[in-house]
Amino acid sequence: MSRVIVITSGKGGVGKTTITANLGSAIASLGYKIALVDADFGLRNLDLLLGLEQRVVYTAIDVLSGECSIEKALVKDKRQPNLMLLAAAQNRTKEAISPDDMKKLVELLDPEFDFIFIDSPAGIEMGFRNAISPAQEAIIVTTPEMAAVRDADRVVGLLESEDIKKIHLIVNRIKPKMIQLNQMIGVEDILDLLVVPLLGIVPDDERIIISTNKGEPLVLEETTSLPSLAFTNIAQRLNGKDIPFVDFMAADDNLITRFLSIFKK
Ligand code: ADP
Ligand code: MG
Repeated sequence: MSRVIVITSGKGGVGKTTITANLGSAIASLGYKIALVDADFGLRNLDLLLGLEQRVVYTAIDVLSGECSIEKALVKDKRQPNLMLLAAAQNRTKEAISPDDMKKLVELLDPEFDFIFIDSPAGIEMGFRNAISPAQEAIIVTTPEMAAVRDADRVVGLLESEDIKKIHLIVNRIKPKMIQLNQMIGVEDILDLLVVPLLGIVPDDERIIISTNKGEPLVLEETTSLPSLAFTNIAQRLNGKDIPFVDFMAADDNLITRFLSIFKK
């Protein structure tokens, strides 16, 4: 049995696909087998972030229409043998897929993987309904902006009404300097608004943009950088490990100093 987790948000552009690719890679490097399912049938881009776009031959739509087997449609990642991608087709309308179709796809994947991540499209329309339908758990991604937090709150309600009770929160694109200057809402304020347990915090970092543009998830190339460590820690927490939160507020940019500042507390 695999853990089926939908990565969702409400608001678009908050980092769902970035987190699916990087956290998925971090989980694979811990030795778990993971399938990443792109449920964004309007704007497929998980393949690009993983650098696998050239290797997509068949998609989820071909599996559902019986044109190919699930094994054939799964794109293998040479750098990460534990990670596979099921791509979404871009050239059909979103209505081509139903919640039952998504359940069928996940059932086919289930025996092979420890984790199945479903990268949800933006909004709370049909694409969102499809993405959440096979999930047992959800990771809600928000940025420290009121609009994103409010949309995340709506999504929490929708997930609970669909009986998805295990919900985790990732706050993405934190800018410590802005929080210190009271120019950005802090993580604690977000946790007050959204009563969802915190799984992790990801800093706003241009290395994340650079790595995703290269199609090379950050955790594969820079295992010691702060954002990379954030993803590895989140992967560990998802597996029940009690890993302390990195102190992104520490003034020093140096990773070692930040580590020491955690232990001093
Ligand atoms: P979504 O899937 O929620 O629409 P994306 O993952 O496509 O969002 O991210 C939207 C944009 O934000 C991308 O350009 C991505 O590179 C950038 N981004 C996401 N997370 C971070 C981060 N932690 N630091 C810097 N840029 C980020
Ligand atoms: Mg996306």
